[in-house]
Amino acid sequence: MLVVEDEVKLAALIRKALQEQGVLADVAITGEDALWMAGSTPYDVLVLDVNLPGIDGFETCRRLRQDGSLAPILMLTARDAVEDRITGLDTGADDYLVKPFDIGELFARVRALARRGPVRRGPVLTLGDLSLDVASRIVRRGDVEIPLSVKELQLLEVFMRHPGAVLSRYDLLEGAWDMGYESRSNVIDVYVRYLREKIDRPFGAESIETVRGAGYRIRAAAS
Ligand code: CA
Repeated sequence: MLVVEDEVKLAALIRKALQEQGVLADVAITGEDALWMAGSTPYDVLVLDVNLPGIDGFETCRRLRQDGSLAPILMLTARDAVEDRITGLDTGADDYLVKPFDIGELFARVRALARRGPVRRGPVLTLGDLSLDVASRIVRRGDVEIPLSVKELQLLEVFMRHPGAVLSRYDLLEGAWDMGYESRSNVIDVYVRYLREKIDRPFGAESIETVRGAGYRIRAAAS
């Protein structure tokens, strides 16, 4: 387990109590530490405090999911604010516990999450600062969420699954549309234009290139 808590006494208490139950726990003091620790160790469960120095628990949770972490996450919130719970669950947490909590209650929640196992989520596709969470259908450039239509999302997913590859209009039609739904290839040109207007232009980026006579390509290292 990984316990992310900057209150050293509380972190030590949780860790000791877990050890007595035969559970090994690492402690991270900041969200940044938690990110690199979770990047190198596949933890079964993460306990994540919301109030942390540096990036907070919400942001840590969001980045963990963005980095592809599937571990169940229990968030510790300072107050029983509905917004905190919603924000926590929105960023990819699986459960929450309000401080102050009973250590027995913490065990119960952690056990339940451990039983549930890795969270089944779609992958998060990333290219530079552009990300597409396949399961939640959320597209972001940096921290900015970009609303896309269903068709734009499907087209972007095809691009992002083939970074750097030249895709013909036919490839894109086949990947993003049901075959036979629309056979005119200019529908692709129209949707590529829509995509550029949303994911590139407002950010001064040019991630989708036109490859003359061949089709389109999303840059492998999109800016
Ligand atoms: Ca704290």
